[in-house]
Amino acid sequence: MKTLEPGAARALTGTPDEFLRGCRADMATARTEADRFAAMKDAPRAESLRAFDDAFAALGDAAARASLTRNVHPDAKVREAAETCEQEVDALSTELSLDRRLYDALAAVKLDGADPVDRWFVEKSLRDFRRAGVDKDDATRAKVKALREELVKIGQEFGRNIREDVRRAPFTPDELAGVPQDWLRARPAGADGKVQVSTDNVDYVPVVTYAKREATREAMWRLYRVRAPGNVEVLSRMLQKRAELARLLGYPSWAAYVTEDKMIGSADAAAAFIERVTQASERRMRTDAEQMLAAKRKEAPAAAEIFPWDGAYLQERVKAERHGFESQAVRPYFEYSRVKQGVLDVTGKLFGVTWRRVADAPVWHPDVEAYDVLDASDPRLNSKLLGRIYLDMHPRDGKYKHYAQFTLANGTGGRRLPEGALVCNFPRPGKEPALLEHSEVKTFFHEFGHLLHHVLGGGTRWAAHAGVSTEWDFVEAPSQLLEEWTWDPAVLATFAKHYQTGEPIPADLVRRMKAADETGKGFQVRQQMFYAALSLELHRRDPAGLDSTALAETLMERYTPFHRVPGTFFHASFGHLEGYSAIYYTYMWSLVIAKDLFSEFEKAGLMDPRVAGRYRAAVLEKGGSAPAEQLVTDFLGRPHGFEAWTRWIEKDDVGGSPGPGSGTAAAGAQR
Ligand SMILES: [Zn+2]
Repeated sequence: MKTLEPGAARALTGTPDEFLRGCRADMATARTEADRFAAMKDAPRAESLRAFDDAFAALGDAAARASLTRNVHPDAKVREAAETCEQEVDALSTELSLDRRLYDALAAVKLDGADPVDRWFVEKSLRDFRRAGVDKDDATRAKVKALREELVKIGQEFGRNIREDVRRAPFTPDELAGVPQDWLRARPAGADGKVQVSTDNVDYVPVVTYAKREATREAMWRLYRVRAPGNVEVLSRMLQKRAELARLLGYPSWAAYVTEDKMIGSADAAAAFIERVTQASERRMRTDAEQMLAAKRKEAPAAAEIFPWDGAYLQERVKAERHGFESQAVRPYFEYSRVKQGVLDVTGKLFGVTWRRVADAPVWHPDVEAYDVLDASDPRLNSKLLGRIYLDMHPRDGKYKHYAQFTLANGTGGRRLPEGALVCNFPRPGKEPALLEHSEVKTFFHEFGHLLHHVLGGGTRWAAHAGVSTEWDFVEAPSQLLEEWTWDPAVLATFAKHYQTGEPIPADLVRRMKAADETGKGFQVRQQMFYAALSLELHRRDPAGLDSTALAETLMERYTPFHRVPGTFFHASFGHLEGYSAIYYTYMWSLVIAKDLFSEFEKAGLMDPRVAGRYRAAVLEKGGSAPAEQLVTDFLGRPHGFEAWTRWIEKDDVGGSPGPGSGTAAAGAQR
C-alpha cells in the first residue's frame, strides 16, 4: 500500500489562478469518475461504488477547501477565487445530483450479500438523489439547478456582509470601567482620549460582560445588532428562494425539507422539541430573571426591568454574590499557550493519539500551526499517521469572525488522509499574556471535539462517510461532550496553571466556578431556544410578506425575559441562518445526547482510557457509516434518552456538591 502524505494546505499557498486551476482539476476528476461510474456495466460492487465515491470525494474536497479559503485567506484576491470556485463546484455538484444516469446506475448496484456499511451508503445516496430532485421532469430539474446556484450566491453575500461590517465605537477609559485591565492596556486611548471598541467578539464580549456603565453596554449591544443592515433584504430573498426550491421538490416548507434527513425527522418534531426544552427550562429561567433584577437593583434601586444588554453583566453579578465567583478570577490560569497544550495533552491521552508539530508544513498565514496526528492507541500500529490538523486561532481583518472547524480534506481508509482546521478568534499572545475566559476554554475544547471527530473518523471505507459526515443534528454531540472535561478540577490542574506563579488552578475555585455556572442556566437555555425558534420559524412560514424583524422581536419576547428593542436587527448578522438555515435546534438536540454519552464517562472516571477507546471505536471512527442513533446505541447499549439532560437542567445551584456532569450548553457563536 502506498504511503499517504498530508499537505492539502499547499493549495492555499499559490496565486488566485493556481487556486482556481486546482479547483477545476478536482472538478475534472469528479466528472471523469462520474462518467466512468455511469458507464459501468455489471462491474463488481466494490469497483463501481469506488468510482461513485471518488467522484463525490473530489468534489467534496474542492468545496471544503474553497469554503475554508474564502473564510481565512489573507489575500482578498484568493478569497474571491475561492468564492468563484465554490460557485462552480456547487453548480457541478447540483448537476451531478440531478443526473439520471448516475441515479439509475446506483439503483442498479446489486446489494446481495452487501454488509450494512455498503447498504447504508447506497440507500442514503439514493435518498439524497431523490431529495435533490433527480426523479423530476426536465423543466423542474432545470429550475432546481438555477435556484441552487442562486442560493449559493445569496448565501455568500449574507456571509460577506457580516464579515466586512466591523463597527467601532469610542469610549473613554472611565466609560469602560469594569472591563479587564489587560484588555484596556492592550487598547491604549487615542489622541482624543478615547478607546476604539470594535464589534469583533474579542472586544464586544468583554465590554458587554464587564462594563459597569449601562450606557456603554447598551451602546455596544445596539451597535452589534445593527451590523449588516443589507442582510434583512438578503435574508428575505434567501427565504423566498429556499421556500420555492422546497415546494418544487414536493415539501410544504424549507424547514420540512431540511429536517427530513436529520435524526429529528420533521419540522413538527423540531418545533415539539423546542417546546419541550422551553417548558423544562421555564422555572429556571424565571428564577434567573428574578435574581438578575435583584442584582441590578443593588446598583440602581429604581430599576424596574432588565434589558438584553444587562444579561451577561448581571449574570456575572449574580455569580459573584451567590458563589463568591468572578469569571476574571480564573483567567490567570488560562493563558492561551498553556490551554492549547492542555487541549492537545488531554485529548491525546484520552483518545490515544499524539500530535507532532510540523513547522515547515505549507500553511496560508504565518499564524497557522500544523500538527500531524499519530495513532498511539496500539503499539503494534507503530504510530501510524492518521491525518493533519491546522490551528488558525487569532483574529485578523477579513477573517471569519466566529469559532469553527473546517474540513481541508476528507479521509478515506487506506486512500486519503483527513486534514482539518480550527478557525478561531482567541486573543493573541503578545506583550500582554493572552488570558482566556473559561467560556473560551470551553469553546476551544468544543471545536477540538469536531476536529477529533473529523480526524479519527477519517478512515472510513467511503469518503461519503468520513468524520463529521453524519446526521447534522448529531454533529454537535461529540463537541459538546468534550466541553465536560473543562469542568473537572483534576483535569484542569494538569494544564491550567497561573501564568505568573505556575500554581495549578485550586480545586475549590473550580468547584465555585461550576456552582456559579449552574446559575443562569435557564436563561442561557432559553436564549438558545430563541435562536432555534427563530431559525425554524423563518423557514417554516410563508416567506411572502414575512417581516423577519417583527418575527425576531416577537420570538425574543416569547423565549427570553427581555422586551423587544426597536431599531435593532440581530438576525441580519446571525451567520448561522446561512449555514444552518432552519436547524439551529441541533445544538440542544446534540446536547441531550452528549449528556447521555457523558454519563458513561462519569461512571468510569473522566480519563478512563477504556471508555474513551470504546467511544472512539463505536462513535468517532464510524463517522457516518451508520445512522447516528445506531452508533449511540452501540456505545450506550440502549437508545439515547432525556434523563441525563433533565437531571442537568433541573439541578439547582445550591445544596449538594455539583457532580461532574453539569457543564453548560454552548452559548454564543461557535459552531
Ligand atoms: Zn460545534
